[in-house]
Amino acid sequence: MKPDSAIAGKRNPVRKADVIVVGGGIFGLFCALTLAEAGTSVIVVDRSKLWSEASAVNAGSLGVQNKLPALVPYTLWSWELWIQLEKRLGVGVGLCRDGGYKIAMTQTEAERLFQISHEQEQLGLTVERLAQNELRTRAPWISPECVAATFSPDDGYASPTLVGPALRRTAEELGVVIVEHADVYAIRHGNSLCVETSKGEFYGKKIAITSGAWSAKLAAMVGVDLPISLDVNMVSVTEPTPRQVIPNIVTHARGILTLKQVANGSCLIGGGWQGIGTIDDSRKELDYDQLVHNLRLAMRVIPRLGQLNVLRSWAGYEGVTPDSYPYLGLLPGHRDIYCAACARGGFTLGPLMGQLLAELILGGCTSRPVNIFDPGRFSNASA
Ligand SMILES: Cc1cc2nc3c(=O)[nH]c(=O)nc-3n(C[C@H](O)[C@H](O)[C@H](O)COP(=O)(O)OP(=O)(O)OC[C@H]3O[C@@H](n4cnc5c(N)ncnc54)[C@H](O)[C@@H]3O)c2cc1C
Repeated sequence: MKPDSAIAGKRNPVRKADVIVVGGGIFGLFCALTLAEAGTSVIVVDRSKLWSEASAVNAGSLGVQNKLPALVPYTLWSWELWIQLEKRLGVGVGLCRDGGYKIAMTQTEAERLFQISHEQEQLGLTVERLAQNELRTRAPWISPECVAATFSPDDGYASPTLVGPALRRTAEELGVVIVEHADVYAIRHGNSLCVETSKGEFYGKKIAITSGAWSAKLAAMVGVDLPISLDVNMVSVTEPTPRQVIPNIVTHARGILTLKQVANGSCLIGGGWQGIGTIDDSRKELDYDQLVHNLRLAMRVIPRLGQLNVLRSWAGYEGVTPDSYPYLGLLPGHRDIYCAACARGGFTLGPLMGQLLAELILGGCTSRPVNIFDPGRFSNASA
């Protein structure tokens, strides 16, 4: 069903729908898409351009090995959606699943790496543990400084720049209305829920808060304390090269490096090194001291990277919860306001998180357990 088209048109934009989704990143768009596929009318409002924050600027890793053990099953379920995505959207999204190495550079790191890999394996990860000599034989392009690694065929990546526009087009074809530059500043309860924005009011029976790092601000509008801290992650991209520099995605036992070479030959260097900024000052600046450490580490692990120029580095916001598990569920004290936000590795988990949120909105239950993601686990409603 399309949103209330009786008042559609440029002068009178659509203002009523079954569900108002606040935030058009990967969580919001997958939620909107799933709702629309089920025949529910949806309006997505975003304070800036759609797909312009974390979902657009991330490094594109679809990593399973770099997830907390409890999140491994969720990441594999999300991969099931990634695999179907090109068919679902009718276009390529730069999907690649050639597997990845997670490396250790000290014996202590190696012990911890193998221990966590056993826990992840119990929860479904396919993984091999490689001693240094095996790693040298299998991946001579990785530095001999690396003393051990795990390899999983489950790791891969996709292109954030291809996913966003494709998701938007399919969602719009299904009737989802997208309103950009509509900053939500209040949410009111009345006969229906009213979302007040810089582009006027929008009415829905239910609201989905998928506002990424800003979700605490949205929850506070309805009296809910949602603890979220901010990471300002940096990523760099090298010039493209026809040579194969990084045949498989590479991550680090301590979570401080992600490396991959994408289809055009450029190498992406990330790892959560921190830039400068806060939600309130809207700064997303590079911290050059940190960036140099990030690039040096990348060259230590893949020496061939030292022959390439870095073309660009940037930073983006990632919201983080106290236990690093995402929020997904009804906001405490509310029956019609939901939230899905702040997954570590949220690009990987986004399709599943959006879908589970839509299932909850549609039928009050989910196809996968979501208890550990309860948005009320740290706070009580004061609404
Ligand atoms: C630099 C960087 C690299 C990363 N690399 C990876 C990676 O390689 N792999 C991986 O899996 N994950 C990665 N992540 C994490 C991942 O990108 C995020 O977890 C994920 O994209 C979050 O999606 P989202 O939809 O929740 O949030 P976002 O994409 O941030 O979308 C939230 C939206 O809400 C909107 N919004 C906020 N406030 C309001 C308001 N008041 N009114 C209306 N709209 C509002 C924003 O404008 C925004 O569009 C990375 C993150 C960053 C920053």
